[in-house]
Amino acid sequence: MSVETQKETLGFQTEVKQLLHLMIHSLYSNKEIFLRELISNASDAADKLRFEALARPELLEGGAELRIRLSFDKDAKTVTLEDNGIGMSREDVIAHLGTIAKSGTADFMKNLTGDQKKDSHLIGQFGVGFYSAFIVADKVDVYSRRAGTPASEGVHWSSKGEGDFEVATIDKAERGTRIVLHLKSGEEEFADGWRLRNIVKKYSDHIALPIELPKEQHGEEADKPAEAEWETVNRASALWTRPRTEVKDEEYQEFYKHVGHDFENPLAWSHNKVEGKLEYTSLLYVPGRAPFDLYHREAPKGLKLYVQRVFIMDQADEFLPLYLRFIKGVVDSNDLSLNVSREILQKDPVIDSMKTALTKRVLDMLEKLAKNEPEKYVGFWKSFGQVLKEGPAEDFANKEKIASLLRFASTHDESGEQSVSLADYLSRVKDSQDKIYYLTGETFAQIKNSPHLEVFRKKGIEVLLLTDRIDEWLMSYLTDFDGKQFVDVARGDLDLGKLDSDEDKKAQEEVAKAKEGLVERLKGALGEEVAEVRVSHRLTDSPAILAIGEQDLGLQMRQILEASGQKVPDAKPIFEFNPQHPLIEKLDAEADEDRFGELSHILFDQAALAAGNSLKDPAAYVRRLNKLLVELSA
Ligand code: ADP
Ligand code: MG
Repeated sequence: MSVETQKETLGFQTEVKQLLHLMIHSLYSNKEIFLRELISNASDAADKLRFEALARPELLEGGAELRIRLSFDKDAKTVTLEDNGIGMSREDVIAHLGTIAKSGTADFMKNLTGDQKKDSHLIGQFGVGFYSAFIVADKVDVYSRRAGTPASEGVHWSSKGEGDFEVATIDKAERGTRIVLHLKSGEEEFADGWRLRNIVKKYSDHIALPIELPKEQHGEEADKPAEAEWETVNRASALWTRPRTEVKDEEYQEFYKHVGHDFENPLAWSHNKVEGKLEYTSLLYVPGRAPFDLYHREAPKGLKLYVQRVFIMDQADEFLPLYLRFIKGVVDSNDLSLNVSREILQKDPVIDSMKTALTKRVLDMLEKLAKNEPEKYVGFWKSFGQVLKEGPAEDFANKEKIASLLRFASTHDESGEQSVSLADYLSRVKDSQDKIYYLTGETFAQIKNSPHLEVFRKKGIEVLLLTDRIDEWLMSYLTDFDGKQFVDVARGDLDLGKLDSDEDKKAQEEVAKAKEGLVERLKGALGEEVAEVRVSHRLTDSPAILAIGEQDLGLQMRQILEASGQKVPDAKPIFEFNPQHPLIEKLDAEADEDRFGELSHILFDQAALAAGNSLKDPAAYVRRLNKLLVELSA
């Protein structure tokens, strides 16, 4: 071995230490995946080199045939993986193999409980990667050199996977990376040609790069691999270029783990070759679950872009709208130029038409999943439903299609699960119903018994119950579906259209007339608190309710805007009362104006509470109520 200089010992970033710990303790039943991860990295490194060599062909000097070599030494108990890809400089090694750059990692790690069972599912949200080497090794040596740098700028990284690692500068004759795993005792089985070959076939057959192992020897030399002779053990062709019929599900799944940097299987995929005016192949995946950083602005998103099978860039986010940012996969174009850049992508009209087509592919794939595998769709909805809800605002053209993919909780289903599609809802509406009714609020429990629902319950009409933060905003874009308008049941002067018979309407008008006097007295008593007072026809059991003005902001939107530091104009509610309720009858009969005022305020505050609002002056409410209680018991 050559001389090591500038040797230093550095500590792992805290998050790396935690990840290492988690990995070693949670992946013990699936150890062999370490090889998949290291091969995936070597393949990425080859892609990157090929791309950089488009502009600087000299980077390929000393070997243009990119490959991965896998060898082992039974006596030394080592497995060695060597690639001739882009390689790493000393700085690269320190940055990539000592820290995790993903934003939000520290927050994510705070979720660790220390309970291995509970924590182990977290790794799926995080993905594994290079550090998985420590599942089987108690020491890992990495020797690397960045393509285009002199042999003297090689680097040796070494760690036992505990608190720190060492780096030193070395001479390295070839560019690329060699990783030597010193197997833990008990893991010697991996220093075996047959075993390694099987793992490669199982997880990495789809890798486009040849993965070579020493040619099998027979007889006396069997356990001493002849270093000179290598044979390719994987298929070594880009998976997406193969015809759909020839690719097995397992191959699609393993390929996903490579491109998606994920650890679990995808839920669905769509593989398509487009020919004609534009020529490209796409392979799009719906992940099995949301990554921990789904809501981080800087979280990686977008597809892997290839041009004529040459890797161009990761995270090309110009091919799909933001509300589909969770989709992973590959797009390989024949029309784009090999020196395409992000700037060009943003302007190229070819990209626009690809984006339109790919968006449709994804929506079709989701539609198919919902139809054919509803249980899987439930999982999808749990992970990504909130993101999909951004769709109607972002993608007007596909609004109806996106709407049909949404799922809601509703009064039809006590469980509160978001499981009702708009098609389900419409299949249950009465002939005379020409609206889709919904109510928004903070939690299902809080609104499932809202007084706003009373008349709907009485008439047997289903109401969608929307409790996600984004819902009110969503509904400002989702105005209708299948020709039926959405109506917020807490808003404005509820018009049940044909659901109220002419007699109902006549009766309502008569009551309103009869109660004009009470309306005026209440206006006087509540004064500035309300925008309007009127007789309600939404109520059957409750005495009173607060409705939101037709144009006013709802509670959720208000909270979102306030949280973002904006001043929101105060909107006064509409006070509606139920003329049949005994309390209202009592109120109407109350001659003492003071007592009338007290009781009116109690009813107003109660209505605010039932609507899920907080009271402006809770102490005043309690004082009034207690006064009343004392009088009652006197
Ligand atoms: P990911 O592959 O998701 O980026 P990993 O933990 O697998 O995460 O790898 C971390 C980083 O280390 C890679 O992004 C890459 O920059 C670098 N790296 C790992 N292996 C190699 C390799 N064989 N050649 C070049 N760089 C590598
Ligand atoms: Mg990786």
